Amino acid sequence: MSKLGTARNPVRAAIVGSGPSGFYAAEALLESEQVVLVDMFERLPSPFGLVRSGVAPDHPKLKEPIRVYQQIAGSPQFRFLGNVTVGCDLTVEELKACYHVVILACGAETDRKLGIPGEHLAGGHAATEFVGWYNGHPDYRDRVFDLSHDSAVVIGQGNVAIDVCRILCKTVDELRRTDIAEHALEVLARSRIREVYMIGRRSPAQSKFTHQELRELGELADCDPVVAPGDLELNPASRDELADRQSRASLKSYEVLQGFAARPAPTRRRRCHIRFLRSPAALKGGKRLEGVALMRNRLEGDPFRQVARPTGEVEELSCGVLFRSIGYRGAAVPGVPFDEERSVIPNRDGRVVEGESVVPGLYVTGWIKRGPTGIIGTNRADSVATVTSLLSDLPGLSAGARSGADGLSALLAARGIRVVGWSDWQKIDAAEVLRGEAAGKPREKFTRVNEMLEAAARDTRRAERAPAIG
Ligand code: NAP
Repeated sequence: MSKLGTARNPVRAAIVGSGPSGFYAAEALLESEQVVLVDMFERLPSPFGLVRSGVAPDHPKLKEPIRVYQQIAGSPQFRFLGNVTVGCDLTVEELKACYHVVILACGAETDRKLGIPGEHLAGGHAATEFVGWYNGHPDYRDRVFDLSHDSAVVIGQGNVAIDVCRILCKTVDELRRTDIAEHALEVLARSRIREVYMIGRRSPAQSKFTHQELRELGELADCDPVVAPGDLELNPASRDELADRQSRASLKSYEVLQGFAARPAPTRRRRCHIRFLRSPAALKGGKRLEGVALMRNRLEGDPFRQVARPTGEVEELSCGVLFRSIGYRGAAVPGVPFDEERSVIPNRDGRVVEGESVVPGLYVTGWIKRGPTGIIGTNRADSVATVTSLLSDLPGLSAGARSGADGLSALLAARGIRVVGWSDWQKIDAAEVLRGEAAGKPREKFTRVNEMLEAAARDTRRAERAPAIG
């Protein structure tokens, strides 16, 4: 038997998920000293995960890593198998039989719940659904967001909350030349929202958003940011936190908030209110949402360990729509161990573990490995770490030749799965760019899987030109 990792017996690697962590894992494998053939599986016909369907449409620079992913996909050792759901169309066991190694890079696909009364009321949504909707993700295409009320509330103070507030507060003119989905632009054009409240349970010193994103709320065409000076008063522990050298980014956010608080009275059509030390206690309403009861909090604990405790003082805020933006949540993959409490796949340095034992040949990277934290680039180091573990395990793995995707094509065809390859995706990509041109948008995304499959089956005029970003 030939040595594994050579031209005669290349390492066959399957990567499940085509977001940043999947592509960075592919990059690390392809740049290694081993000969590796990478097959990347993706449940949608389109690649790039949250870079396509999570990054805000008005932040095109954040989509630039797509250029790197396109280069990786251009390697002759790389294949893309879109429109294949691992755990449904194919089991992980079936994958393992065809590959020496399988890397799960399937991100955190669901959202967290608040666990308070009234959460079921119509008008309350996960921010992740709204984000998927305005970004044209097929899963959220048919969601309905009623923006006919005066006020919207966003719970949480991370960058997703900022994205949601900004999209609600921007004018249509500020959005129409982005790659925002047309169906969302139409609803936003009719929006009657005037007041947007972003609510944090702790103080400004613990907010999770970054100062660059926060600052943008002060640069909108027809919206004023509103911060009450009293909300910026800090307890001694929070002052200690901001004085710490590690907290420079938080200090910058605090200074931006001070700038907002010092602004003259708002004059624009919309206002984005940023409030602290309040937790939602209940969503109120009859058939649909009418308001939210907010519990005032105080902080307890040492610096960097402060937790919000209710003071007993409750205030009500009326609103017709509410977005909980309190973090993404990983979903279990059938046949793979899952840590329900942390919503991650349990692992040791990227090696999937079941109890105390390592599952041979099975690896994990990205949000489903470490939880939903960090920026796009954070996934590169994470995937390099996983691939380092994988490469060091190779001598111990069975070196028998594996078929890779060739061994799966008959199975997938028998199950009626139309596999979307990279050249198919390039046709979809080119067709989207073409659709966007008339409206001056970088692209108009297809928002239904069948539309993507039809575009892949067509030969578009410009299929040969380089796919654009955006
Ligand atoms: P996040 O940064 O973890 O923020 C979650 C927010 O929800 C925090 O303010 C948290 O407050 C709050 N929260 C959690 N549980 C809560 C509860 N039960 N009640 C009230 N508030 C609660 O999550 P995210 O905004 O979803 O972002 C995920 C990751 O993507 C982050 O790393 C983010 O930076 C990144 N991202 C980056 C960009 C960008 O670079 N432009 C854009 C979008 C997302 P506590 O601190 O008190 O827990």
